[in-house]
Amino acid sequence: MKLVFLGPPGAGKGTQAAFIAEAAKIPTISTGAMLREAIANKTELGKTAEAYTSKGELVPDEVVIGIVKDRLTEADCKNGYILDGFPRTVAQAQALDDMLPDAIDVALSLEVPDEAIIERLTGRRECKNCKATFHIKNNPSAKGDVCDKCGGELIQRADDSLETIQNRMSVYHAQTEPIKDYYKDCGKLKCVNGVGSVEEIKAALFSALGLSEAL
Ligand code: AMP
Repeated sequence: MKLVFLGPPGAGKGTQAAFIAEAAKIPTISTGAMLREAIANKTELGKTAEAYTSKGELVPDEVVIGIVKDRLTEADCKNGYILDGFPRTVAQAQALDDMLPDAIDVALSLEVPDEAIIERLTGRRECKNCKATFHIKNNPSAKGDVCDKCGGELIQRADDSLETIQNRMSVYHAQTEPIKDYYKDCGKLKCVNGVGSVEEIKAALFSALGLSEAL
């Protein structure tokens, strides 16, 4: 299964992608996570990316397209993948199709209104060590302030401040939302309601993808 996961920042794509990846036994490829790793490692890519990510702006298409192209040729992508955070513009979606015409089977859009996003993102926490994501109210770590998977410190992402979130939302509406029409026109778009409990949303997504919970 080759899947693009669409939806506003904070829609819960990361949490739900992990469930789908486990059930379908395919990797999740998150351009945001790849860029954060490059920033943490202070690589040339990281230095370029940080100037944009710190303001909530999109990293230039050619930079992101290059890292995705390299990643999709790795062996673990042979049976499919979930793209989380890419494509982010119609130009990126077109570049992906030009590069790999069979790159995508399904574009799944997780639909969440803006007000719910603001509440979610300001409460989001990420494990500094294993990158697992939590929410202080909706999906807290069983171990409180530390990650219940690896014991790592839970931190708020630099781009989850209110001002940056508002900027990311307007960037999403202006530049990323039009991708839905792009995949609709190809007959690949499926929309799923992203409001509800983590379990309810998981069930709706699995049903849309024809995945069994027991897989
Ligand atoms: P995310 O974790 O997907 O919310 O990404 C965090 C930040 O990384 C975004 O706000 C962008 O600055 C940058 N980024 C991630 N993916 C892309 C992409 N496909 N195109 C451009 N910028 C991206």
